[in-house]
Amino acid sequence: MKILLVDDSRAVAMVTCARLESFGHEVIHAADGPAAIAHFQQDHFDLILMDIEMPGMNGFEATTRIRALEGHEAWAWTPIIFVTATDTPTNLVTAIEAGGDDFISKMAPETVLQAKMKAMSRIAALRARLAQANRKLQDQANRDGLTGLINRRAMDMQVDTLWDRATGQGLPFSLLMIDVDNFKKYNDHYGHLAGDDCLRAVARCFAKCLHDANEDKIAPGAFVARYGGEEFAVVIPEAVPGVHAGLALSLVESVAALKLPHEKNSDYGIVTVSIGGVSVNPASGHVATLFREADALLYKAKENGRNRCEIS
Ligand code: GH3
Ligand code: MG
Ligand code: MG
Ligand code: MG
Repeated sequence: MKILLVDDSRAVAMVTCARLESFGHEVIHAADGPAAIAHFQQDHFDLILMDIEMPGMNGFEATTRIRALEGHEAWAWTPIIFVTATDTPTNLVTAIEAGGDDFISKMAPETVLQAKMKAMSRIAALRARLAQANRKLQDQANRDGLTGLINRRAMDMQVDTLWDRATGQGLPFSLLMIDVDNFKKYNDHYGHLAGDDCLRAVARCFAKCLHDANEDKIAPGAFVARYGGEEFAVVIPEAVPGVHAGLALSLVESVAALKLPHEKNSDYGIVTVSIGGVSVNPASGHVATLFREADALLYKAKENGRNRCEIS
């Protein structure tokens, strides 16, 4: 385990550190409450061993503050064991009330300390599994099952945050709405399963373009989402003017370059996409208008013959 040992006595800390390290744990020492809080904010610990009597901020107060930092997420709870010379019933009750989980005497024999650490290791392993499962669930909730791209719900949440940030910084905000051309005919002709494969291939192509644009710093922070059905959206939160036009064109060309056969997309014979793209200054616009304008331009791209982008 990675243990944060909080104790104002250097001598006690050295002995305890040596014992814990001999059990195979990694120990970080904090000499007072504020130092413990600072370590806690910077690092992840499986366990905190907290002295009670310390000058300035005592162990109870440090614990209360650490619990406040953790917020209300149950899986974020880091076990805290108080270590003290005076294990009175009052101290025990106060320790639990402050958010502590257990209590151990400084005089406890080595075997007792070792046994407690063994129990805590089991809890630490459980917490790690829980945190991992939680991360996985969160990721699944944000992704579209067919393409693996960010889904509409996650995109909407991100757009709200990024829009507010861009407003504060006075940076332009761009949006591309993308629609696969004559996709109903694709399904009718090749079947729905082939349609699914096609959407996956197009999504992969977009993801690669966005990855390259991020890497080349053309559009850092830009991302693609599945907006719904055969529609996708690209969000470019901090675009230098003109970047959205270049990116839209490269997306149209990259999909065409896949040369996926689409007999019923009569003018082209391959799978193509149309894009409507807008860029606005968030200080003088509204996010709903952004989507409406991009949609209108997408409609124009369809009218003008598909396999193209219309940008404002
Ligand atoms: P346009 O060029 O004007 O966009 O024509 P379109 O045929 O692409 O547009 P339309 O909106 O009429 O048809 C969209 C089709 O996309 C209809 C729907 O069955 C199909 N679609 C939506 N989601 C999925 C999906 O997840 N898988 C498959 N295979 N098809 C889908
Ligand atoms: Mg002390
Ligand atoms: Mg559509
Ligand atoms: Mg379509």
